[in-house]
Amino acid sequence: MRDPADYISKRTLAVDASGIRKVFDLAAKLKDPINLSIGLPDFDVPDIAKEVAISAIKGGSNRYTQTQGIAPLRNRLRKDLSDEMGRDVGDVLITSGVAGGLFLAVLALIDPGDEVIFLDPYFVMYKHMVTMAGGVSVPVSCYPDFGFPAARVEAAITPRTKLLMLNSPSNPTGMVMSDAEIQAAVALAKKHDLILLTDEIYEPFLYDQARGLPSPARYYDKTLLLRGFSKSHAMTGWRLGYATGPEAILSQMIKLQQYTYICAPSPLQEAAVAALDVSMTDAVNAYRRKRDLVFDRLSKKFDVQKPGGAFYIFPKAPAGMTGTQFVAEAIKNNVLIIPGNVFSEYDTHFRISYATTEEKLIAGCDVLCSLA
Ligand code: PMP
Repeated sequence: MRDPADYISKRTLAVDASGIRKVFDLAAKLKDPINLSIGLPDFDVPDIAKEVAISAIKGGSNRYTQTQGIAPLRNRLRKDLSDEMGRDVGDVLITSGVAGGLFLAVLALIDPGDEVIFLDPYFVMYKHMVTMAGGVSVPVSCYPDFGFPAARVEAAITPRTKLLMLNSPSNPTGMVMSDAEIQAAVALAKKHDLILLTDEIYEPFLYDQARGLPSPARYYDKTLLLRGFSKSHAMTGWRLGYATGPEAILSQMIKLQQYTYICAPSPLQEAAVAALDVSMTDAVNAYRRKRDLVFDRLSKKFDVQKPGGAFYIFPKAPAGMTGTQFVAEAIKNNVLIIPGNVFSEYDTHFRISYATTEEKLIAGCDVLCSLA
């Protein structure tokens, strides 16, 4: 007789999620930690979006929508993105979060053995999604400055490389790719005929960028662009993202969505249209102040790059310690942070999320600095 565990697919067993689980286990033991680990904004969904969602539910918008999402939301996003990119970006697909969009993209593009390049440190999900699709992850180190290492990326390209994934602003480093770096990535994609996937979920959270986020979608039409509402409007539980890209690929993603997620939540798609008219400038300004507060404090004791976006910072653990060892010390002192090896092949750094109150940030930084 086979044990239930014996039925698990090789695909599933190949996904190793032990790193992040260890952190959750440690965290569960803490009573009231200074929690600098959470990857979501500490403000709430804009009131107007809540009101539209409630009236949409009461008004009966509770059924499936078209697979690709409701027209008012798609049309609005197409217009906004086309204005931003200086070209018609084509149709927009509303996805079940950016995670849903990533999964559909990887599933639509990757055959077993196909290689996917992304920078290390990376958003954890990339590695696992590529594995689930049967692909091969090729993380390329961008330590120590977390810029775009064009020569290293080019050296990692093989005849099996299909996809180059970018994430700017980055989780976990908070780094924003410059326009020159974006153009370098586009040049490589053109030269080697790759699809570029750009995960721009943190796009509104830019602190030093006068002219908006440099995006490869401006320069390269074989770009799959993914954005979402989870971070921009604090709607992580609403599961709303969107994708644009070459029609031949987007249509296949729509086909896959039809047989997996079906559609993004109907009443919440209506609310998202209203959310697009809410200015998030105050939130962004508040996060800029938090970025400055955390960077000013930590840079006195740690080797750390100044992040230009998102709400993460990724300092190096003190000399002689791995990221994991330093995180264990921090947790003993009631500060919850995440070891860098959760996002990386290297165990040298740790991630702080500064999406919390200034009070907690000051207390948390004081503890970390005293440990260093
Ligand atoms: N991409 C990045 C870089 C992220 O940090 C996250 C969430 N932490 C996601 C995608 C997924 O976001 P969602 O599915 O909530 O839109």
